[in-house]
Amino acid sequence: MEPSSFLKRAKDLFCKSEYIKALEIIEENINLFQRNDMVEVNYRQGSILKALAEETENMELEFIYMLGSVECFSRIPMGSVYTASLLFKMAEQTGADLYYKKSLNQAKDCLFRLRQPEFEDFASEFNSKIEELEYIIETSETRIAVSKIRVWEQSKEPNEQEETKNSRFDSVVNGLRSYWMGLDVEIKRNFMKVITADLKANVKITDGKEGQQALEQILTYARKNGKWKLWICRTCLTRFSNPEECTNHLEQEHVAEFKPKDMLPQRISDVWASQISVGGWEPVNAAAAVEMIKNQLEDVKKFSYENGWSKDWPLTVGEERSKLLKEIKQLLVLFCDVKILSCSIRDRVMDFVAKKLEVSEDSLTYSRLVETPQGICLLECHELSQVLAFLRRVKCERDDGTDVVRRAVDSFCNATRYREKLDFDSDFSTLLLDKRLLQGKVSRYDDEGTVNVFDPNVHYAKAHASGDDYMSWLSDYSSGHTSFRFPRPIRAHNLGIWVAVMRAVQFTCRSLATKYAKKSQLLDHETALSDVRKLCSSEDDRRKNLKTDEWKNYKSVLCDRCEDGDAAKTFSDAVGDVLNKSSELESENLSDEDVLVLESIKLLKSEVNNKVALIDSKILLIENTRISLLSDLTKLAVFDYRYYIHHPLRVFLLAHLMNRSNDR
Ligand SMILES: [Zn+2]
Repeated sequence: MEPSSFLKRAKDLFCKSEYIKALEIIEENINLFQRNDMVEVNYRQGSILKALAEETENMELEFIYMLGSVECFSRIPMGSVYTASLLFKMAEQTGADLYYKKSLNQAKDCLFRLRQPEFEDFASEFNSKIEELEYIIETSETRIAVSKIRVWEQSKEPNEQEETKNSRFDSVVNGLRSYWMGLDVEIKRNFMKVITADLKANVKITDGKEGQQALEQILTYARKNGKWKLWICRTCLTRFSNPEECTNHLEQEHVAEFKPKDMLPQRISDVWASQISVGGWEPVNAAAAVEMIKNQLEDVKKFSYENGWSKDWPLTVGEERSKLLKEIKQLLVLFCDVKILSCSIRDRVMDFVAKKLEVSEDSLTYSRLVETPQGICLLECHELSQVLAFLRRVKCERDDGTDVVRRAVDSFCNATRYREKLDFDSDFSTLLLDKRLLQGKVSRYDDEGTVNVFDPNVHYAKAHASGDDYMSWLSDYSSGHTSFRFPRPIRAHNLGIWVAVMRAVQFTCRSLATKYAKKSQLLDHETALSDVRKLCSSEDDRRKNLKTDEWKNYKSVLCDRCEDGDAAKTFSDAVGDVLNKSSELESENLSDEDVLVLESIKLLKSEVNNKVALIDSKILLIENTRISLLSDLTKLAVFDYRYYIHHPLRVFLLAHLMNRSNDR
C-alpha cells in the first residue's frame, strides 16, 4: 500500500472517532512516510491527540494529550492556529507562566499571519479565530503581568473507568462460589494447574488464530527469559528485559534527531556538592588569611583539610557575615539537590574569591581556597551580598507540568500491575497459579514478575484451602480493561498517552535547542569582546616605538577597525557595546578615555559570563525535565504478560469449573 492510503485510512478512522486505531495505523507505518507526507502525519497525530484531550475527563491526561498535540502542530505551517489555543488551555489549567508566555507568542504570530494580504479575501471566515486570538493575547498578558500563578488544581483521583459489568457473567461466577466452597481440597489444588496445550486449544476457539499466536509468543518469552514483565517500545515494538536498555533505545532511536547536539553544561562534582553541605560556613578573618598566604606560605601549604574545610584558618565573628553565608549555603545546597549547579555558576562565585585575595596565582593554588567552598567565607558583607544577588538570579524551578505528567503516567502504570505469581512445571507444559489464592487475597504487587519452576505435586502438597478468594480472582475485572484486552495487538496498549509523552520529550528538546542557540550567541559575543581587548593591547605594543603625540586612543583604534569594512558583525556589535558602556562610566566621573574602555570591556565580559552561567543552569533545569519525561516514557513501556493473559486464563478456568458443576 502507498503511504498516502495509510493516511487516508487513519483519516477515515479519525472521522469515526476511532482515535487509538487511527494512531496505530500511523505508528505502524511511521517509517514508510516520506518527507512530504510529514505535514499530514503531524497534522493527523496532532488532531487525534487534541480529540483525545477533549474526550477525556481526567485532567492530567488532558494536559498530556494537549502537550503532545502542541508538538505535532508546531511542525506544520500555520500550526500556531492550533497551538495558541492549546497552550492557552494548558496555561489556564496549570496556571503556569511558561505556557501563558508560549501561548502569547503563538497567538501573536498567528494574528500577524492572518492579517497578511493573502488572507484578506478570507477575512470574514477568520473573524471568530481572530477574536479568540485577541482574547488569548489580552488574557495571557494580564496573567503574566500579575504573575498570578494559580496552583494546579489537584484533580481528584482519576475516575476509575467504570466498567460496564457483564451482569450475566457475574451471576454465573456467584453461582459457582458456593460450588467452589464445597469442593474437596485436592480438586481445588488441581484447579491451580493449567495445562498449556489445553489453554492454547481454548484460546484458538475464543480468540482465533491471532490469539493462539499471541499466546504462543508469550509462553515462549516467559520460558526463555524466566520473566513475565518486559519493556515494549510502542513505536517500533522492540522488546527489552530492563528499563536501562529501553531508555537508551528511546533516546537513540526516537528522540536523537530532536536532541540538540551541543554538550550539556557540566554539573559540579559530588565531592564539591558534599563539601557545600558539610561545611560550617563561618567567616574567616580575611586580612589575617591574606597575611598568612603572603608571609607564611610554607605553613599554609601544610594546613590539613577535612571534606574541603580546614580549621587552621583564623576565624572571626560577624553576625551579618554569618547570616549571609548561611543564605548562600542554603541556595547552593538547593541547587545541588535539584541538580542544576553548573561548574560555570561555581566558577563565577569563586572569581569573587580570587579577586578578593589579590595574591599570585601560585600562592592562590597553594592556599587551596579557590578549590573549596571555604574560600567564600573570606568575603566581606558587600561582596557576599553581590554573590547572593547573583545566585538569586538562578532559576531553580520550572513550572512545566512535569508533575502532572508523572501522576497521570503512574495511574496508568498502576492499572496494569499484577499481584499473583505465575509459574511453570519443569517441562513448561503446565502453568502453576499462585497457591496463596487458595487461602486468601494476594494484596502486594509482584513487580518482578519472575517465572519459577516447581514440581506441582510438591508445590501444592501442603497448601490449605479456605474461603472463596480464588473465585474473586476469576471474576476480577480490574485487570481486564474492556478497551484493551487480549488478543488486541500490544501496540494499542496505552498508545494515546505514549504518543503524547513522546511528543512532550521532543517539545522539551526544542526548548533545549533554543537555550543552546542563545548560549552560543553569548559565547560569540564574549569572543568578540576578547578580540576588542586584544586590539587595545596591540595598540600598546605599537605605542612602544612612537612618541606620545603619535599615539592613538583606544576608541579611535576600535572605530577605525569597524570602519574598515571587513570587521565581523559580532566585532562591531561588541565595539558598540564597549563605547556605550564607556560613556555610561564617563558620567560616573572616570576621566581617562583608555581606562574607561578597558574597564568597560571588563564589566561587559563579566556580565556575559554571568549570563552564560545562568543559561547553563537553565539548560540543566530543562534537561531534568527531559530526563523525567523520558523516564515516564520508559515506565509506559512496561508490559506484564500476566496482565495480558489474565483474561483468557480465567475464561478457561471458569469454563472448566462450570463443566464440572454441570456434571454433578
Ligand atoms: Zn522503538
